[in-house]
This record gives sequence, structure tokens and C-alpha cells, in this order.
Amino acid sequence: MIIVMKSRAPQNQAAHVIQELEEKGLKPVPLYGVERTVIAVIGEERDLNIGHLESLKGVEKVMRVVKPYKLVSKEVKSEPTIIEVNGVRIGAKDELTIMAGPCAVESQELMDEVASKLSAMGVKIMRGGAFKPRTGPYSFQGLGKEGLEILRNSADKHGMAIITEILDVRDVEIVEQKADIFQVGARNMQNFELLKELGGTSKPVLLKRGLSATIEEMLMAAEYILSHGNPEVMLCERGIRTFEKETRNTLALATVPLVHELTHLPIIVDPSHATGKKSLIEPMTKAAIACGTDGVIIEVHANPEVAMSDAQQQMRPEEFSQLLENIKPIADAVGKSF
Ligand code: PEP
Ligand code: MN
Repeated sequence: MIIVMKSRAPQNQAAHVIQELEEKGLKPVPLYGVERTVIAVIGEERDLNIGHLESLKGVEKVMRVVKPYKLVSKEVKSEPTIIEVNGVRIGAKDELTIMAGPCAVESQELMDEVASKLSAMGVKIMRGGAFKPRTGPYSFQGLGKEGLEILRNSADKHGMAIITEILDVRDVEIVEQKADIFQVGARNMQNFELLKELGGTSKPVLLKRGLSATIEEMLMAAEYILSHGNPEVMLCERGIRTFEKETRNTLALATVPLVHELTHLPIIVDPSHATGKKSLIEPMTKAAIACGTDGVIIEVHANPEVAMSDAQQQMRPEEFSQLLENIKPIADAVGKSF
């Protein structure tokens, strides 16, 4: 059930509704929007008296939500969620968010070089995996906590923010301290304990679509984070597993406009993991922008040939710089700048 407060209803009216719900043993989760506050109700709501709730001061309407997700849905919040990170407004209609950096944090030298080159191109958010979810246990697993330090260090030298993957609930605290955005990888999209833990943090989360997850399952995963108190979630389409073997995954671009129809959360496209092929990254980035993506996250490595992971899909800084030039006309055409 969703309780929609009147436009600009004072906070104490929402607080009163919340208190009543708590007294009935339910868990109300308020979502404070610019226009209005919306309260999602978690728990056994069968015995709730809708008429009574609707009569409370400041309540505009009480809705039973048919969809299995509530807080992420457009029904609950019609205006888009905008997440501010390092001056970038992720999800703003007129902005295209660019995140770039190597697949994995390999060394301070690598991160310094990439940070310096990317920041010169105007990129404000750098990616880099310190904890790597590798398919095989004998592949490079990332530098872990040392990698986080390296990433923070390089980013700070150039005024950049960082996004990095979180694999384990035990690392949430340290990653929250060091990073600006948590990345939940495809393999962890339904790690519900991790999602709940991230719901209790103060940093935004980029939630990647699972390898074989439906869009509804992705939205339900996002719902876990919001319902545990963190409204700053962006979704990420990174391709899904199909019968096609020429590309690493199949980039499901319809996700972008569909997610915009269904939710207020921003959506980011990852053409690197979606295709696994350097030559496909620019055309897929252009297509993603054309269908309304809020941003892209792209792998860039100073020397891809010797990269310790995902060598075939990482772009050189010069190639990436050219990509940024080439996508400008498409971004212009849809009214976005970066
Ligand atoms: C990554 O971005 O580093 C990554 C492992 O991607 P995914 O979770 O989409 O496979
Ligand atoms: Mn990678």
C-alpha cells in the first residue's frame, strides 16, 4: 500500500501517519520527493482501514499497488530521481552521465594515468574494480582493500568521484568510506542480504541487471534497497545471456525506455560488458543515448593488451576520447550534454 501525501504537506503530518502505521505493527518507508512525500507500507496491511488513513491530515490518497514493486514505481513518484555525485546530476533530463575507467584496479600507476587522462576529458566519475567477481577462482580477484586506497588516491588527485563494486556484506563499511557510488554487479543483483545492507548506507548504488534477470526482477532488487532506506539507486543494463555467442551478452536496449516508463530511477547502459567487443562500444553507446539512457559506464585502460581482466573490451584513452567526440551529436539531438 502507498500513502500519497498532499503536495507540500508539512513534515509533521507525514510523521503522524508514520507513527500510526508503526503503532499497528507495520513498517512505513517514507520517500521524500521535491513535490510530495510518499509513504510505502510494508507488512500485513489487510486490516488497515483505508477510509481512516485517507481522513488523516495531509493525506491525498491511499493506493493499493498492484505491481510487486512499490517505491521504485512511477505510480509512487512521477518525477525522475536525480542523484548528485561530484557535480554530476545522474538522471537529470538534460544530462548524460559518463563513467569510465579500467575493469580492475591493477596498480597505482595505472589508476593515476587513467585518472589524469579521463579528468582531462571532463569525466567526473571513474570506475575500477577492487573486488572482482571472476568466473574462475584462479583468475585475478582484484587488489581488495589496497585497490580501494589506490582508487581513492588517484581520484582525489584529479577531483574525481569513484564507483566500485561491492561483493560482500562484510566490506560495505570500508567501501562506503572510500567510494562515492557502490556498484552491485550482475552476479549479485539478487544477493538480497547485500541489497538490504546497502539500503542502510548513505551512498548511491548502481544496480546491474543480473545475467538472466527479467526487468521485473531487477526492479524488485532495487525495491530491496529503497525499502531499507536508501532512495539513491540507479539501474544498469549490461546485457543479458542469450543463445548468441558473437557478443559477450545481448544488449537489451528496450530496457532503457521501458525502465523510464515503469520507474523514476535513472538507468545507465554498460556497452562494454554488454558486447565484450571494443568495436561495438561506440555504436551501442550512440544507440543507448538515442533511446534515452541517463548515462553510460565504459571500460578504459591505459594499456588494454596487458589488462588483467576484460582485455578485449577495454578502450585506450585516445579511443575513448574519440568516442566522446563522436557521441556529441547524438547527445545534442536528445537534448543532453556532458
Ligand atoms: C564490472 O562492471 O566490473 C562487472 C563485473 O560487470 P558485470 O557485473 O556487469 O558483469
Ligand atoms: Mn570488466
